[in-house]
This record gives sequence, C-alpha cells and structure tokens, in this order.
Amino acid sequence: MNGTIEAEKESPMGRHVPLRRCVACRTVQPKSELMRVVRTPEGEIGVDPTGKAAGRGAYVCRRRECVDAAVRKQALPRALGQPLPVQAAQQMMQAAGAPPGPEAGAG
Ligand SMILES: [Zn+2]
Repeated sequence: MNGTIEAEKESPMGRHVPLRRCVACRTVQPKSELMRVVRTPEGEIGVDPTGKAAGRGAYVCRRRECVDAAVRKQALPRALGQPLPVQAAQQMMQAAGAPPGPEAGAG
C-alpha cells in the first residue's frame, strides 16, 4: 500500500530535482512547482506552504483548474484518506492565485 511516486531526474545542472505528481492532472512536475496539501497526524487538512509539515501529503499544480479538479473529482480526499474540508479547498484556491470573493470565475 505504498503508492508514493519516487521519481527523480537529473537536471542539466546536475542537481537532483524531486518530482511529484499532481493528483488532478497526473502530470509529474518538480516538487517546487506544486502545492502540497497535508493531513496532519491530528487529522487536519490544509495547504502546507513549507512542504515540510508532518503528515500525509498530496500534491496539486498551482493552477486553479487543477485545484478545482482535485476537489471535484475527489482526488484529494482519496489521496489523503478523508474528506476535504471547505476551508482546505479555500486555502488551495488562494494558494493557486484565485481571486478572492464568491464572484470568482466571471469572464
Ligand atoms: Zn495538475
């Protein structure tokens, strides 16, 4: 039951770049390009800006499309093993650069 992707690749600079897969679009990207969502040992779910928080993590592109898809398709709840709180979804939207307010998406 270990589905962690441990893909690594060497950049032209010769440095190791840790790679992770977006749970929404399944694209493998450098960890630094992705947003980490973590479920803490206490069972709280939220965005982990440091990428170092203890707990079970899942990764999503910093794109609104992927955040939306990860929430709608239940990809994150599946990856984290429990339902995603509304607060966490809102945190993700903010981290993805979504404009604040309920009117987002017009246009
Ligand atoms: Zn993605």
